[in-house]
Amino acid sequence: MVLDDARQQNLPLVATLERLLAVEVAATGDRRLTSRLRFACLPAPWTLADFDYSAQPGVDEALIREMATLRFVDEGSNVLLIGPPGVGKTMLAVGLGRAAAEAGHRVHFTTAADLAARCHKAAIEGRWATMMRFYAGPRLLVIDELGYLPLAADAASALFQVINTRYANASSTTITTNVGIASWATAFGDPIVAAAMLDRLLHKGIVVGIDGPSYRLRSHQARAEALRTAAATAGATHG
Ligand code: ADP
Ligand code: MG
Repeated sequence: MVLDDARQQNLPLVATLERLLAVEVAATGDRRLTSRLRFACLPAPWTLADFDYSAQPGVDEALIREMATLRFVDEGSNVLLIGPPGVGKTMLAVGLGRAAAEAGHRVHFTTAADLAARCHKAAIEGRWATMMRFYAGPRLLVIDELGYLPLAADAASALFQVINTRYANASSTTITTNVGIASWATAFGDPIVAAAMLDRLLHKGIVVGIDGPSYRLRSHQARAEALRTAAATAGATHG
């Protein structure tokens, strides 16, 4: 393509080489982004632009827009997204993760349950150190759904070790949870481990509390409303 154009337009050699190089650089960039996104394991193709702020008045839009600049990744700050189910915690965590991957950062998404299971297996198989290095590696690690399932003692200590290592490396960790900070001590087994975990997370932490309506339930409510209206209309005609 480039060579055909160059021949037709009688382009000088240097200009032709520059064009070829630009094509190659773009292709390399695409390949790197594809490989970063594959490594990231994001569970959905959501971007921050998909987030509807009007549907979730409980979320601080200015704060999310500030986080979208990814300064928090450069500074190694942590992000805690706290709120009940269906308010968009995972969506925001995925959107931030995607933006970071597109900006060239190594990102990895996991759930608390998956992290616990993989660490447990690694400990049994004598791969603990390797596993810890894996979770220490990404510039941004997203741990989704902390607190949805009870954490066994060894899971809580694995999680603490991951968070502590990342804190020491000044790498960002994003956590989504339904458990308010005040309840962490009782929710995650050992209150001392929970307090130590919170201490690391909050030292350079951004806490995003989302306390609004569930987006998942919206469609259910709309359907239920439609059914009620239909039933009332039918009742009126028959009665
Ligand atoms: P949570 O992790 O808080 O349980 P999710 O992030 O999984 O909630 O969101 C539940 C569903 O609702 C997803 O399909 C998500 O895309 C959608 N959703 C939630 N909040 C919003 C929003 N503000 N704008 C657009 N879609 C949203
Ligand atoms: Mg979620």
